[in-house]
Amino acid sequence: MIPILDSKRQYAAIGSEIEKAVCEVLRSGSYILGPNVKALEAELAKYIGCNYTVGLNSGTDALHLALRALDIGAGDEVITTAFTFVATTESIEIVGATPVFCDINPDTFNIDANKIEALITPRTKAIMPVHLYGQPCEMDKIMDIAKRHNLYVIEDCCQAIGAEYKGQKVGTFGDIGCYSFYPTKNLGGMGDGGLITVNSENLKNRIVALRNHGGAIRYHHDEIGVNSRLDEIQAAILRIKLNYIDEWNKARRSHAATYNELFAGYSDIQTPKELDNTYCVYHQYTVKIPNRDEIHKMLQESGIGAMLYYPIPLHMQKVHAHLGYKMGDLPITEKNTEMVISLPMFPELTLDEQKTVASTLINCLEKSKALV
Ligand SMILES: *Cc1c(COP(=O)(O)O)cnc(C)c1O
Repeated sequence: MIPILDSKRQYAAIGSEIEKAVCEVLRSGSYILGPNVKALEAELAKYIGCNYTVGLNSGTDALHLALRALDIGAGDEVITTAFTFVATTESIEIVGATPVFCDINPDTFNIDANKIEALITPRTKAIMPVHLYGQPCEMDKIMDIAKRHNLYVIEDCCQAIGAEYKGQKVGTFGDIGCYSFYPTKNLGGMGDGGLITVNSENLKNRIVALRNHGGAIRYHHDEIGVNSRLDEIQAAILRIKLNYIDEWNKARRSHAATYNELFAGYSDIQTPKELDNTYCVYHQYTVKIPNRDEIHKMLQESGIGAMLYYPIPLHMQKVHAHLGYKMGDLPITEKNTEMVISLPMFPELTLDEQKTVASTLINCLEKSKALV
């Protein structure tokens, strides 16, 4: 059995460091928004390259509070992608705004920057690009459109910590960047967690207040906020893991290169393409294949933990049915949804395992062809 992700191997390597840090928090008596959260916020601002970061409960809260801080709500439209996790568009609906779906670039699976402008209306307030699978979006084009039309940009960086576009980390191009520390992410906690990146001090202060019941001063409440505080145990764990993130991302990139080599010459397998001048961090290694559903089943039966991210594009989800989209509205999103399959990818994956994954996938493809 080769799983898509094996968190236990990471724990085996750094568990003793983590246990020590967690015990210190337990003994300290400070459990919420304490010194570890403060230190993590400063360390991540330095690592990502922004003025401020604010620790939150989850990536979903980061997206939601980013929209709140920019006063985006009822009557407003946000242009985004349907080829992502539902939290992206859920956050837009939570604040009462309307997601407007833009089709994707089939090479990167990210929002097609060339198709954004046609979707802009007088109600458009923001563009929300998602750096899916750890591949940066075309931020030059997106920022140019945003500037010309006076739109905000909120980057969903939940799968892309450490990823760079033209030497600059994602989350620093737009007004606000949103990160998740869900355990499966490249920088994952041992519970839920999230973070926003921001350069504006005003926006930072607004989010600091929103995360703690809408007030900067305790028991003084200026607006309706939420409880989205990051806890000390998660922050202490994340501070240790942050020391390894570059090494782990490098290992992911090296595994991606190995898969690419193992699949070279098999025209049925389309391997991931990287844009020029980007540093992709391969949260997922996702290929495109024919007969995807059948192959997925065969791989599972052979003990390969392949997954479909995501099996239904968001414009076809029941939760967004009220928006009135139908099949055919986003042809490239729809076609790619049927072809993608993500293979085992994590820093501790071995070469032998990669060879097994590759030969099994190739065998399954040959078998499915012979059956036709
Ligand atoms: C994981 C993820 C989120 C949500 O993060 P949580 O911390 O699970 O709330 C949002 N967007 C994308 C693209 C994600 O992968």
